[in-house]
Amino acid sequence: MLIKGKESAKWIETTIPLILNPGTTKQLYLQKAQAKILAFAKQLLPFKQHSASALHFHHLVYTKFKYLGIQSQVQEAVQRRVYAAKRAKTFAHLPMEFNFPRSGRLILSKRGNALVKLSPLKQRIAVPILMNGGWRRVEEHRKGGWEAHSCKVFKRKRIWVMHLIMRKALPLPQEVEGTIGVDIGRKIMAAITVNHPNFPFVEQYLGKDLAWKQHQFYNRRKTLQKYAAQGDRRARRALNRLRRKETTYVQTRCAQLAHEIVDLAVITRSAIVLENLTHLRRMWTKQAMKRKRGGKKTRRALNRWSYSLFHTTLTRVAQLHHVPVVFVRPQYTSQTCSQCGHRSKNSRTTRDLFRCVNCNFTVNADRNASRNLALLGQVVFGLPFFNAYRSFLPVPTERRILRSSVS
Ligand SMILES: [Zn+2]
Repeated sequence: MLIKGKESAKWIETTIPLILNPGTTKQLYLQKAQAKILAFAKQLLPFKQHSASALHFHHLVYTKFKYLGIQSQVQEAVQRRVYAAKRAKTFAHLPMEFNFPRSGRLILSKRGNALVKLSPLKQRIAVPILMNGGWRRVEEHRKGGWEAHSCKVFKRKRIWVMHLIMRKALPLPQEVEGTIGVDIGRKIMAAITVNHPNFPFVEQYLGKDLAWKQHQFYNRRKTLQKYAAQGDRRARRALNRLRRKETTYVQTRCAQLAHEIVDLAVITRSAIVLENLTHLRRMWTKQAMKRKRGGKKTRRALNRWSYSLFHTTLTRVAQLHHVPVVFVRPQYTSQTCSQCGHRSKNSRTTRDLFRCVNCNFTVNADRNASRNLALLGQVVFGLPFFNAYRSFLPVPTERRILRSSVS
């Protein structure tokens, strides 16, 4: 069960890149189809101005271009993509999208070779798939109950690539006994609070190393950039290496932390409570605007890229282990006291410290936020408040403000 906004997702999705191996004739056919689709996309562009919604756009163009010879479902996919690209003036690349089993299908030849049947235009062709590690992943996924859902086909550096999208239905949600509030912070990747009858307010700081390590990467990058700008080739190569190294490091640590948290959630049969990422995006743009106007220079901290990476990784790992995830609006989690529920902007004395103006409760700001998230999760799941501070206390009225702010 993934609670995201009001709708709940019923499946999980993964993308597996595969390499296609079409012969000369099939390659020509694919090229022809690709060119036709690109031309079609360009023809669609002027209609965007006159359409009020995606559906309206569909009605405007669908019958008009129906007889171009493009397979109808592929045509619909192009229309969707063109409409979604809000400000696009032209399309240099446009993958061909196929839905299984309507316009594409995975099959095995008599000799046991993997093929994908595609019909971009009226004619259907079977293109061999390179049976490399990617294909083995597909087979493993199939054993695990995943099904091929759709694919995108495009040409990259003279190679035809297929991104296969596989789906798996999610089983029924588990019973939720507690919540884990995860606050993704600037200095600490994740401050977590477990709220469970058997583990009241168990707290942990995870990923302290990340901000520090990224700071180191930043310093090194700055030096190298200086040399590279002067035309030092070795510096440029070293810079590329460094970038790859940083990416791998952050990705690995994100996955490790996500697994740590999810393991805890599985043991305690808890749901994970996270901040809503879209809200944060809005906040970041506001901050960026402030900075442009000459505001305070912000300290180097965890950058947004690693922040959203961790957010998505954690959600994904939780889904794979059937742990429910709740997203809440983060607005007041940093201003509300996790002990008495009093909300005030003045409680945040410094960036790192929270001191409640009502009850004088003093705590690390990240820890306070993660506690609030755990408590919010309890409201969402209708669980009683079982923590060291609030056990047997009535729910304070301020808490209800948070209840209404659950999105
Ligand atoms: Zn307080």
